[in-house]
Amino acid sequence: MKPFLARTAFVLAAVAMAVSLAPGASVKKKEEAVASVERHQSEIIALSDQVWGFAELALQEVRSAKALADYAEAQGFEVERGVAGLPTAFVASYGQGRPIVGILGEYDALPGLSQKAQSAKEVLVPGAPGHGCGHNLLGTAALSAALAIKDLMAAGKLKGTIRFYGTPAEEAVGGKVYMVREGLFKDLDVCLSWHPSDKTKVAVDSSQALVEFFVEFSGKTAHAAGDPWNGRSAVAAMELFTAGLNRMREFVKPTVRMHYSIVKGGDVPNVVPAYAKLWCWLRDSKGAGVEQLLARTHKIAEGAALMTETEAKITVQSGNWETLVNLAGAKVLFANLDRLGPVPFTPEEQEFAKEIQRATGVEPKGLDGKVQPWAAPKPDPEGGSTDVGDVSWVVPMLGLGVTTAPLDAPWHAWPTAACAGMSIGHKGLVHAAKVLAATMVDLYEDPKTVQAIQAEFKEKTKGIAYKPFVPEGPPPLPGEKR
Ligand SMILES: [Zn+2]
Repeated sequence: MKPFLARTAFVLAAVAMAVSLAPGASVKKKEEAVASVERHQSEIIALSDQVWGFAELALQEVRSAKALADYAEAQGFEVERGVAGLPTAFVASYGQGRPIVGILGEYDALPGLSQKAQSAKEVLVPGAPGHGCGHNLLGTAALSAALAIKDLMAAGKLKGTIRFYGTPAEEAVGGKVYMVREGLFKDLDVCLSWHPSDKTKVAVDSSQALVEFFVEFSGKTAHAAGDPWNGRSAVAAMELFTAGLNRMREFVKPTVRMHYSIVKGGDVPNVVPAYAKLWCWLRDSKGAGVEQLLARTHKIAEGAALMTETEAKITVQSGNWETLVNLAGAKVLFANLDRLGPVPFTPEEQEFAKEIQRATGVEPKGLDGKVQPWAAPKPDPEGGSTDVGDVSWVVPMLGLGVTTAPLDAPWHAWPTAACAGMSIGHKGLVHAAKVLAATMVDLYEDPKTVQAIQAEFKEKTKGIAYKPFVPEGPPPLPGEKR
C-alpha cells in the first residue's frame, strides 16, 4: 500500500508542476501552429480521402504509406522508408537537437468494411476493406501536426527535432512493436498519439494487454467411415481445446477477454482431419495477467492433445503491453484541448450522424464534439488493445481522442468508415492536428514540462523491463508462410 501512496503523491506533484508551467508565453506560437494546420488543411484532407479510398490492410498499406511519406518529403522532411523490416513503415524527421518529439501515425484499414461515405449502409467495393477505425484520419492529422511544428522550426521560432512515425499494421501484427524492438523511439523525449473516437477527450485510461497466438493440432488421416480407427482427428482436438477455453471463461477475472477464430478445420467430412489451426487472442488489464492466461491455455492445449492422441503446438505471433498513461503529459494536452474547445460540427453533420444512429439502433443523440471534463483514470481499461501501449513503455506517451463518428454507434463497423470519408471525419482530423500541434509547442518551449513528464515516466517504469510479445526474427510480411 505504502509504495502506491508514495507514487500517487509523486504523480500529483508532477501534474501540479506541469499545469502551473503550461501555456502562457507560447500562446502566439500556438496560434501560428494552428494557422499552419489551417493553411495545409485542404491538402491534408485530400490526403486523408486518398488513404480512405485505398483502404489497405495491415502490412499491405503500400499506396497509403507512400502517399504520406511522399507528402512529408515534399514538405521538407527527411524520410527513411521501410524501417524495422516493415516495407510500409517510415520515419519523417525535421530539425536537429533536443528536444526530440515524436508523433505516431497509422493508416491501415479493416477487412470487409468497405462503405460509401453516406448515412446509409452501402458497400463501396464488394468484399473490400474499409476504414472502420478511421486510421486514414489518424495518420494524416498526426502528419499535419508535425508539419505545423516543422513550419515553426523553419521560421526559426522553435528549436529541436520533430519526428513523424508512419506506423503500419495497428489492426493486426502490431507494426509499432517491431519499431520499438528496433529501438526507433528510444532517443525521443516525448511521444504523442491520437485516435478517432465518438468523444473528444484526453486519454487518461490505459488499454488492455494482449497476446495473440496460433494453436495447431496434428493428427492422422484415415477414411472417416472405412477405417476411422486408424485416424486421429485434429479437429476433435481443436473442439476439445475450445471447449476447455470456454470452460475457463467462468474462472477468470471480469477484466479478461478471450476470442478466437478457426483458421483451418478440416477439408471434407469423409477424411479424418490431420490438421487444425485456431487463431486466439487473450486480453487483460495488465501484461502479467495475460502471461498467466497463456500458461493456462498451454495446459488446455496439452489436455486436448492427450485426449485425442494428437499433438498440440502454440506459437505466439504478437501482443501488446497495456498503455502506460502519463498524467503530467495528459494535463498539458488537456489544457490545449480545452483552449481550442469543441469540434465545430454543423446541423447537417449532426443530422447525418442521427441518421446513422437510427439505422444502427442507438439513441439519435448526434455527434458529441464537446471537450470531456478531466476525469481520474479508471482502475481497469475498457476493452481493446493497441500497439501504442508498447511505445508507451519506452518513451512517455501523450494520448488524445477526437470525435469523428456518431456517439455510441458501432465501431470497427460501417458508420465509422462512412464518417471517416466525409466532413465529420475531416473536422475531427483538423481539430486533432491543432490540439497536438499546440501541445507540442509547449513541449518545445518549456523544458520543465518535459522534465515533469519524464520524471513521472521514470517513476512508473522503475524496475520494469519492457519485453515485446513478438517472437525473434523478422515481422510476418504478407505472402510469407508462418
Ligand atoms: Zn484504431
